[in-house]
Amino acid sequence: MIEVSSVAAALLLIGAATIHAATKVSQADFGKMPDGTPIPIFTLTNEHGLEARICTYGGAIVSLKTPDKNGKMADIVQGFDSLEGYLNPKQPYFGALIGRYGNRIGHARFTLDGKVYHLPANDGPNTLHGGNKGFDKVVWTARQLLDGGLELTYVSKDGEEGFPGTLKAVVVYHLTANNELKVDYTATTDKDTVVNLTNHSYWNLKGAGNGTILDHLLTLHASRFTPVDSGLIPTGELRPVTGTPFDFTKPTAVGARIEQNDEQLKLGHGYDHNFVIDRSGAGLALCARVEEPTTGRVMEVETTEPAVQFYTGNFLDGSFPGKGGHPYPFRAALCLETQHYPDSPNHPSFPSTELKPGQTYKTTTVYRFSVKK
Ligand code: BGC
Repeated sequence: MIEVSSVAAALLLIGAATIHAATKVSQADFGKMPDGTPIPIFTLTNEHGLEARICTYGGAIVSLKTPDKNGKMADIVQGFDSLEGYLNPKQPYFGALIGRYGNRIGHARFTLDGKVYHLPANDGPNTLHGGNKGFDKVVWTARQLLDGGLELTYVSKDGEEGFPGTLKAVVVYHLTANNELKVDYTATTDKDTVVNLTNHSYWNLKGAGNGTILDHLLTLHASRFTPVDSGLIPTGELRPVTGTPFDFTKPTAVGARIEQNDEQLKLGHGYDHNFVIDRSGAGLALCARVEEPTTGRVMEVETTEPAVQFYTGNFLDGSFPGKGGHPYPFRAALCLETQHYPDSPNHPSFPSTELKPGQTYKTTTVYRFSVKK
């Protein structure tokens, strides 16, 4: 008699062979943490040569190589050649997984079930990207999956960085045959908590280190955004983008209006805002398309999340020598962080970020790469 579990395993293998037949994964050494913990780096390569390198420190996407319209490969994410660069506590989350709470929580506190939770204030009076030691600064446990995926797990202790509940976060990276980088996030908790996970890759479709992103053409399927105060905390308003420099509903150069005398652009030092994705229901929705005219590279972003933080690298200042010694100056990259709205725990009108025991947090974001000839 064949056991059900082995049939399931065989089917999984057949499924894996069909879907990810040519995704190869290899592992190498990326260095050691100060306490000696080894940090491996995994290289995922699909059948078309798309290549992603991901390390267990911060679960960071260290490099992503895609072809241009002439087939020339380039690495389109900012980062460092070695672990040392990533360990610099001042580097701005290059490629990293962000948690427990992506973006800001106002006044470093929130109330849940009638109890006030205090968090570290690491961005003026506010909490940014999970506190002093967010998920970008921890070592994730890696497991290669039979289907060519890379699974990363991190268990955050009850009370870590002020958040309640033991949170088990699992992130799976896949490269698909369709030239997509697919990121699946799940999390469970043993106490009521809040969670908002994302990835903080800095994209430049010319190839990171090759100038700014001001000429990239951006489309955002978002007819509203959340205006912010001077600490970049949403005011609670959902403002229509029509007639403002925040209207990217048609392809528009990122830099076309970035210097306009607009209160919100001034507050963000450029774009650093949460856009509410136009969607007709749950599931994956196309939220962004970026096209770089000279190389023809195109990136489309689909997500199950309600929003995306569009950030134009306004705080980059060239102070970090990146890959190959290239500094990454002002606006040398853009981020599209798919997420729930910033400061949701303090805004009952925003989609909820609460997670309770017995529930599973589950989101997916897909980055699809192609070229326009
Ligand atoms: C934030 C920016 C911040 C950047 C890196 C983005 O998600 O919105 O304000 O500077 O992350 O720290």
